[in-house]
Amino acid sequence: MTVKTPVTRDEWFELSKSLTLHGQAYINGRFCDAESGETFASINPATEEHLTDVASCDQADVDKAVANGLAVYRSGEWAEASPKYRKTVLLKLAALVEQHKDEFAVLDTLDMGKSISEMTAIDVPDAIDCIQWTAECIDKVYGEIAPTAPGSLALISREPVGVVAAITPWNYPLMMVSWKIAPALAAGNSVVLKPSEKTSLSALRLAQLATEAGIPDGVFNVVTGYGHTAGKALALHNDVHVLAFTGSTRVAGMLLGYAGESNMKRVWLEAGGKSPNLIFDDCDNIKKAAGGAAAAIFSNQGEVCIACSRIYVQKSIKETFIAALVEAASRYQPGDPLDPNTNMGPLVDKAQLDTVSRYIRSATEEGGQVILGGEPEYQEGEGFYAKPTIVTEAHNGMTFVKEEIFGPVLAVCEFETEEEAIALANDSQYGLGAAIWTSNLSRAHRVSRKIHSGMVWVNTWGEGDTTVPFGGVKASGNGRDKSLHALDKYSEIKNVWINID
Ligand code: NAD
Repeated sequence: MTVKTPVTRDEWFELSKSLTLHGQAYINGRFCDAESGETFASINPATEEHLTDVASCDQADVDKAVANGLAVYRSGEWAEASPKYRKTVLLKLAALVEQHKDEFAVLDTLDMGKSISEMTAIDVPDAIDCIQWTAECIDKVYGEIAPTAPGSLALISREPVGVVAAITPWNYPLMMVSWKIAPALAAGNSVVLKPSEKTSLSALRLAQLATEAGIPDGVFNVVTGYGHTAGKALALHNDVHVLAFTGSTRVAGMLLGYAGESNMKRVWLEAGGKSPNLIFDDCDNIKKAAGGAAAAIFSNQGEVCIACSRIYVQKSIKETFIAALVEAASRYQPGDPLDPNTNMGPLVDKAQLDTVSRYIRSATEEGGQVILGGEPEYQEGEGFYAKPTIVTEAHNGMTFVKEEIFGPVLAVCEFETEEEAIALANDSQYGLGAAIWTSNLSRAHRVSRKIHSGMVWVNTWGEGDTTVPFGGVKASGNGRDKSLHALDKYSEIKNVWINID
């Protein structure tokens, strides 16, 4: 049966009311309460309405999920299944997500506030593509034979690592989960996922569909709950072999400590960012650069790890660029995220709104000039909405230019020379992404080489698909999601040396 995709706000709203929201944990192929019976509330940030109660898992639930994951890993039912078989099952999962794409779009919009138009244009198609693409790769990855002397044969192969713990954030709930579970499952591992306590719903639905697709019980488990309970228990668990994390730099550092305190599990970190956006005076279309710069900070309400929250504009075009930027930014208007015309939803919760207010206040106290937006005007019960905010007269010494805000607040700084622009861009603890706007090809290559970050966009921002790696350097983390490089995180490399003399 083909179900028509909603078009209007009312149709999306109707769909949202018809859904069953699952808040129980998902362990060994079925929904279950936390052993303690504890729950916490999932709140819709657009309306502050209670959506459902979510299981608050702790050590006991994590132990159960990891034990199930380990048992099925040892059984070989999934880990030793042929790559072709794993591919077929994961392709079925991708097809099921596609079949339920509208439901997934609504789940994350309700849970996190992201606009339905971003969900349908970006998050859901990206998640499907990631699962599909990774599945299709897994029976095309070959081992190696080392160039040894004739008397020996050395085989180099990839094996699953065992139990992978994935800990994910709330800003792209389904997409971040897919980036972790697709390569981890494709490589033959068992997964215990702990989604952010702010957005558990789409992960739970995905796990349910994974069972329907044919993933054996215990191979994909979801323990919902808080970071300091469920997350910490997972990170300290001695039967977890790999910890794959996306979230803040603060928590990333804690996870490294937990790994050292426990079994030295391998830790992969996708952490925070404060990405620079360099606008050179030879950029051939200032309006386009301003549009790209606005999208780079106001899409998804600025709750984007690769948000270009620091603009460095060349002094000679500063006034013209700022005028175009304000015009482009004015097109972002916070509104009901279920309305397909809305391009900015609410922030995820009151704490995030307070953080944004605090940084805007600090920006003005330290000499910045707010030329658009300003501190949010919060009305209890009406959602956590923040306006697109631009602060000029900014420089690298200011707190709001140094620290990740994770909201729609843009700092505009200036530079005079290319060397200065590179130095200012690199003057940050982070190194996730960077954008450069120039029509000079040599400059584009020269500057991209000198920028310390995992990703650079030239005359665009944020583009990329499943074929390219995603990740950062410095305090933005290590390892890469997406592309064939993602498989490196979830496989052990084994060398078997055979004497054939
Ligand atoms: P967060 O670090 O607060 O939480 C991330 C996850 O870690 C959540 O599931 C949380 O419950 C868990 N957690 C918290 N404390 C923990 C602990 N002590 N032990 C184990 N787990 C714990 O981050 P967030 O607020 O959910 O997400 C926003 C952050 O994520 C931003 O810094 C953003 O830049 C970053 N992010 C990075 C990328 C990337 O690819 N580099 C992508 C998206 C988001």
